[in-house]
Amino acid sequence: MLKNKELKNMNCDFSPMKQQLSKEIHHITNGLQQSLEVLGDENYCVLGDFKELKRNFIQMESVAASFYLNCYLSSFTDKYEDLSFSVQQLSNRRHGALIVVERQDSLDSLIQKGTALGANLTAMLLETIFYPGNPLHDGAVLIRANQIVSAANVLPLTTTVISEEKLGTRHRAALGLTEKSDALVLVVSEETGRISFALNGKLYPITTPQSLH
Ligand code: ATP
Ligand code: MG
Repeated sequence: MLKNKELKNMNCDFSPMKQQLSKEIHHITNGLQQSLEVLGDENYCVLGDFKELKRNFIQMESVAASFYLNCYLSSFTDKYEDLSFSVQQLSNRRHGALIVVERQDSLDSLIQKGTALGANLTAMLLETIFYPGNPLHDGAVLIRANQIVSAANVLPLTTTVISEEKLGTRHRAALGLTEKSDALVLVVSEETGRISFALNGKLYPITTPQSLH
């Protein structure tokens, strides 16, 4: 779980977002409580309620993902919205991507350098870099502040054996770098379109509003 250590020195006071998350959690808690209460009534089938609860759960995950990404990134880049939008676009098209956002730790000694870019970060440029077949699409992009520093970088792979899931090298690279630094790494899976982020050697899913459809 992401703990206070991670939240330290971060700008996590997104009160409206926090309030919305709290509201969503209460909504689900109340819904589950109601399902428990009607379980004894054989004439009432809770399956219909579960369908609605599932939708609420996805909505809650989506709000939580936005809250935590904002919290972990906003002190280091103003381009949070471009990052967020581009990973959604990449996910919709199932274009694999690996995006490293440098935070306090310097990553120079951890990353095998690819091609220097030094370009302003835009969603369009990120989507272009990861367009399949583009010579720079393989490897990771490095973001520092509001710039795309470089592309086609090679990250250290994790050596930790993750028992519950067989992870490919893109995800293992995201974990590897975040085990050695405080960087946040966004991952879009080419196979599934799923978006996640790695922080502190752990992988967290990013649910988007599109998951509701
Ligand atoms: P996906 O869910 O997208 O299939 P995966 O976790 O299963 O991802 P692979 O299918 O092995 O991983 O993805 C391979 C791609 O991951 C490579 O083409 C490359 O772009 C990227 N990649 C693999 N290893 C590294 C690394 N060490 N550093 C940076 N990028 C890497
Ligand atoms: Mg794969």
